[in-house]
Amino acid sequence: MQSVPRFSDMPYERPTPEDINNKAQKLISAWDGAVTVAEQTAIIQQWDDNTAEYETNHMLAQVHFQQRTTDPDAKEEQVFFDNLNPVVLENNLSFLKRVTTTPNRKALEEQLGSQAFALWDCFLGTFAPEISELSRQESKLRTEYSELLAGLEIPFQGETYNLSSMRGFYGNKDRSVRLGAQQAKAHAMESIAPELDRIYDDLVKVRHEMATTLGYDTFTPLGYRRMDRTDYDDSNVEQFRKQVREVVVPLAQRIYARRAESLGIPDFKFHDESVRDHSGVPCPDGDHDWMLERATEMFDTLGDDFGSFFRMMADTELLDLKSRPGKSGGGFCADIPRYGVPFIFANFNGTQDDVNVFTHECGHAFQNWSSRDQPLLAYHWPTTEAAEIHSMSLEFLTYPHMEQFFGDDAERFRTGHLEAAILFLPYGCAVDEFQHRVYENPSMTPDERAAVWSELESVYLPQRQYVDMPVYDSGRLWQAQRHIYGMPFYYIDYCLAQTCALQMWHAASIDRESAMTRYRALCKLGGSMPFTQLLSAVGLANPFDDGCLETVCDAARETLGL
Ligand code: ZN
Repeated sequence: MQSVPRFSDMPYERPTPEDINNKAQKLISAWDGAVTVAEQTAIIQQWDDNTAEYETNHMLAQVHFQQRTTDPDAKEEQVFFDNLNPVVLENNLSFLKRVTTTPNRKALEEQLGSQAFALWDCFLGTFAPEISELSRQESKLRTEYSELLAGLEIPFQGETYNLSSMRGFYGNKDRSVRLGAQQAKAHAMESIAPELDRIYDDLVKVRHEMATTLGYDTFTPLGYRRMDRTDYDDSNVEQFRKQVREVVVPLAQRIYARRAESLGIPDFKFHDESVRDHSGVPCPDGDHDWMLERATEMFDTLGDDFGSFFRMMADTELLDLKSRPGKSGGGFCADIPRYGVPFIFANFNGTQDDVNVFTHECGHAFQNWSSRDQPLLAYHWPTTEAAEIHSMSLEFLTYPHMEQFFGDDAERFRTGHLEAAILFLPYGCAVDEFQHRVYENPSMTPDERAAVWSELESVYLPQRQYVDMPVYDSGRLWQAQRHIYGMPFYYIDYCLAQTCALQMWHAASIDRESAMTRYRALCKLGGSMPFTQLLSAVGLANPFDDGCLETVCDAARETLGL
């Protein structure tokens, strides 16, 4: 791997389709002539190096565009890569088909690990030329959904907002403000509900047809393959949701009851759910530069490896955290494989979210950095349910340092964060079970789907009561959940990872040093194993096993004094 220049000095080169094809063809011919395992291993490594170089340029183009969305040159590079995608996909299909069916497969798996082969099998099981028209339709519908939501205008208090700028109001201390804000959002969502029903109906039908064309009975197994799930299926996930219904839902009801009590609200409603007490949300004590200084101190205290990692990130411009005009919203962590380094993108807004987003993305980044010596690019990140363990765990593992950011409010921050982690699980499971029910019965009407959502709300979110929000009463709150449209079956990954992160929190409360050692070990393993194997490698309980949630919920109940 090359030494790391500053981000702004990283050379970017636009690859040509001819160059990509030539390189791919050369390796495919070499593969066809290769006989020994050593020859084949070398070809796979070369393919991996070519992919790393391509991905580096792709990532640089993407980040440049996110940093400067109004720059036409940056946009042109981004579009260029979008158009290049089919060329790369075709070459990958052709090469990986050969690799996965070679008689030497077993010996190659011993050299490179079997996880890459399992992932390649997944990839090959989700594509075929016969579904390319359906894939086009699916991505058109996704875009239609995103555009509809992005363009939604929400009039509130004499101004016009969009879905993300409304967020700040839902936790407002003034009850009438948060009620008004939720009603304004619901009203706007109602105006596009028929369109959203139609788009989802089309998406479900397109996805079902893709699945049956590829030989699956329903979309569910195809959706699992698209998520690279190689070691569990929908029955395991139902086992997990059952635990959430039995153990987490009752705890969540106690958290809400206490909130109602501390707010002095006898009639606790939907718009009160995200408010803990009258003191409002804790805020960090300083601005961006102050936060970076505190973060540097925090990482130094976490250990030399964390400290040097974080200084490397800061010194080479791999942190872009400030909001500014023209910069795209949101936060993410990307990797730049040519140098084996991650890149963190965020938009600080001066609230506790900054600390959450920052520790979360640093968790992803530290994992990626720790996995940089893994033999294949496929192992630099784990599959998504495992990837979120590193990020969510670091949010918990940095608890003892929160005084640096929040001063006297640190304890309130920790309690609020822990409660939010618990409260998320029932909602996440409702989103997941909804999708299972939908794809099992693809001929349901939009009204029948809405009835399923209402039924699931009564199971997972029994406290829920809307005040004058007819679109939610009709069972359509899920329409604002982007993953349901854009990334089917993704959502449960957050719940599975949160369950593991809660175990890390619990472990750290008993023996911090040993928890940190296990965390580092998990980061180093990267994506070299599937989800459940990663867990057993570092002694975390499997969320699909009975009793897993009971232990962490007991610990949380005790800490929260419930
Ligand atoms: Zn994440």
